[in-house]
Amino acid sequence: MSITPLMPVYPRCDVRPVRGEGCYLIGERGERYLDFASGIAVNLLGHGHPKLVKTIADQAATLMHTSNLYGMPLGEKLAQRLVDTTFADTVFFTNSGAEAVECAIKTARRYHYANGEAHRHKIVTFDNAFHGRTLGTISATSQPKMRDGFEPLLPGFDVVPFNDLAAATAAVDEDTAAIMLEPVQGEGGVTPATQEFLAGLRKLCDEKGLLLILDEVQCGYARTGTFFAHEQYGLTPDIMAVAKGIGAGFPLGACLATEEAAKGMVFGTHGSTYGGNPLAMAVGLTVLEEVLGEGFLDHVKAMGARLRSALEQLIPNHDGMFADVRGMGLMLGVKMTDSYDARNFVAHLRDNHGLLAVSAGQNVVRILPPLVIEESHISECIEKISAGARSFADANAA
Ligand SMILES: *Cc1c(COP(=O)(O)O)cnc(C)c1O
Repeated sequence: MSITPLMPVYPRCDVRPVRGEGCYLIGERGERYLDFASGIAVNLLGHGHPKLVKTIADQAATLMHTSNLYGMPLGEKLAQRLVDTTFADTVFFTNSGAEAVECAIKTARRYHYANGEAHRHKIVTFDNAFHGRTLGTISATSQPKMRDGFEPLLPGFDVVPFNDLAAATAAVDEDTAAIMLEPVQGEGGVTPATQEFLAGLRKLCDEKGLLLILDEVQCGYARTGTFFAHEQYGLTPDIMAVAKGIGAGFPLGACLATEEAAKGMVFGTHGSTYGGNPLAMAVGLTVLEEVLGEGFLDHVKAMGARLRSALEQLIPNHDGMFADVRGMGLMLGVKMTDSYDARNFVAHLRDNHGLLAVSAGQNVVRILPPLVIEESHISECIEKISAGARSFADANAA
């Protein structure tokens, strides 16, 4: 047999972490990495955060799992906190981002069904979007590498260019139920929606009776410097998918909705065995307490501004290598020029300079540090990228 015991769907690199300490990962051979990937925007409190570790240990000893057959005191508490601090009136807890998006799609379809308009089932989505890897969520993207060989997919998705309001408007017809997008595309290349685009979509939804679904799985939970990215656009969605940062490393996601948008989600329409179990809820409460604690969001904004300007200074200092810096808060991307490959550069930084970043679409190096970084981590990151850029240019010139 030549297949590996772990199904070989990931092109795994040679980094084999066995321990984490704050903003660092330590590999099998004791080597240290500055972790500016954070498990792809997940570990927002870094690794081994004492409060989070204590929460997990205490809750595991008290009560780990029951069932959604029973009342959930901790779940009620976390849902109430989310309702108090967002646009939402109600929350469904999941174990992952894709499940949160699935719940969002079901909620949108069911809304129109409850309104007696079951024919309204289609959802407008966007090029370069990423919503997860379930059959439903791969149907919502146009990327062939995720879709090929899995057809027939879930029908009813119209995929149009991102930041193109006219295209989105033209895609809406009498069968459309919702518009779904990431306010800042993550996997697609760290591309924020423009103000005109997102505000235009909100208006379009209001005019046509559509639901606006935001996928804030990657850009939400303080990553961009506000609790959720849409706050910076001065508008709210009807439904929102959340995951990644919400559990800071523990598998947790959530679908948030207004009372109106959730009106079809009555007894028996949805469920999950693990979703919202006591251990996950205890984690969620501790993470939320930290994220909404005094000064946390200000810290993200301050560190984001510093990191961004330091990255921008790399552009003139490394002639012809970096094209621009994009993103918001501590969700940043450095686009490389056509002469260089971002994926190779990320590997070079990792293997030769001990810096972990993530590549994204459109030849972008994604920088997603823990949100608790200090200035010293930024300096260290910039030194590594500078040194890495010099040695990478030399290697590519040779
Ligand atoms: C990661 C991600 C998902 C999928 O989350 P999983 O937990 O991997 O299922 C969905 N949407 C966005 C925007 C993401 O970044």
